[in-house]
Amino acid sequence: MKRFSSALTLALVFTAPQVFAWSNHSFATYRALEQMPELANAAPVTVEPLEAFLKAEEKTIEALLASQEAWAAANLEKFPARPAALAFVANADRSDDARRLAFLMALRVAPNSKFALFIQPDPQLPDITGTRIAYAAVNTLPEPQNSGYKFIGLKPGDQIAPLAVIASASDEPDYGLDINLWEDSPSDWGKVYGFGPLPFGNPALNYSTQAPFHMGFYHEDSILYMAAPFIKRTFPLLRSYQYGSLAALAFRTGHAYWGWRFAGLSLHYLQDLTQPYHASLAPGNSTLQLLGANILAMAGMSGKKDDMVVLLSNRHLAVEKYQKELLQNAASSKQDTAIEKALHNTEKDRSYPDWSDRYVRDVVSAQSAAYAPRLAQTLVATVPELFVSDPSFDFGVKEAGISMVSELSRRDAAGRAQLDSAVAQLLGNLGAHSRNAVRSILKASNQQ
Ligand SMILES: [Zn+2]
Repeated sequence: MKRFSSALTLALVFTAPQVFAWSNHSFATYRALEQMPELANAAPVTVEPLEAFLKAEEKTIEALLASQEAWAAANLEKFPARPAALAFVANADRSDDARRLAFLMALRVAPNSKFALFIQPDPQLPDITGTRIAYAAVNTLPEPQNSGYKFIGLKPGDQIAPLAVIASASDEPDYGLDINLWEDSPSDWGKVYGFGPLPFGNPALNYSTQAPFHMGFYHEDSILYMAAPFIKRTFPLLRSYQYGSLAALAFRTGHAYWGWRFAGLSLHYLQDLTQPYHASLAPGNSTLQLLGANILAMAGMSGKKDDMVVLLSNRHLAVEKYQKELLQNAASSKQDTAIEKALHNTEKDRSYPDWSDRYVRDVVSAQSAAYAPRLAQTLVATVPELFVSDPSFDFGVKEAGISMVSELSRRDAAGRAQLDSAVAQLLGNLGAHSRNAVRSILKASNQQ
């Protein structure tokens, strides 16, 4: 078993420091939520710094964070208990900085996270007024080339639409919050957080260290869990719950800005899991193929497994890039395409089970994992072979120079329509589950 697990570890090593993400979450969230009455009719909220919220609600936050820990111990598999010394204990005498640090360390997120006051403007709206702030003011990670990110700074006391707050925050967990949290991470805090060593990937690559908080493999074959138990050590459900319950607390105690902000942070993890490549270990590969490739690799023939890793990574990146281009193009042409229509569509919202603590795992991630083989098939059938079926090609390295939309428009229209429909279906799921999550947070915020 030991040999299996070390071999399978390699199957998940991300070879390049590239971002795997439904990027940029704010674009999809603006469209998914803009027609919800709870947001469309919501009055602006007053911007408040994190420090002020923490100071005002220190005692209630102490109680909530203790209950979050108890919830996680009872509800999450392989949950590593938080070291007692990290518990958040109210102390009215400490400085704002000390309280902020204690809060972030009690959540076990990167303590250097910015939590800046900002929004990402809605790409469909004409340039909004405001002061642009630097990428580095909101994000601790290096800015990718041609990132296209645009951040507008906010000041305490500003009035801002809740939609802008929640949409902007839905992208925020990718800004360094979950970087280097492991015992073998190049950080001081990783050593004290108690998450153990990075379960898979390269601890020296910052994006690898984020992955186990933004992916979750809950629906694999039981033999894979036996062969590679470390694939259970992923924590998007922890983050989703932490921020979701903080949002309800903030609403309940009259801090609506932080209510929407934490709600957005919570949405991010649910949205990541709607991406089949975040919810399934190896879309399109059977358990037998995975184990077979690993057995060959153990016998010194690693070619098959290496190819599999490259193809998985290439397909993962290709679908995310295509989705991003579609959203960007639609936003800049200011018209609703099938993608926006799918994000708006509320028809299926009520077809899902009522919200519960297991919704993200049993509904969102189960649906996404079940769709994974079909998505892999669709990618292979519709995307140029070089990008998704050629293991000598590294999509991550070439990504900046690739336009998926123009590559696909040169292909047959039927193939492109098939891929468009798959992406629309996935974004439709993202929209429905995001709205259901917002409704559940608002409902919880009305309960004492
Ligand atoms: Zn993410």
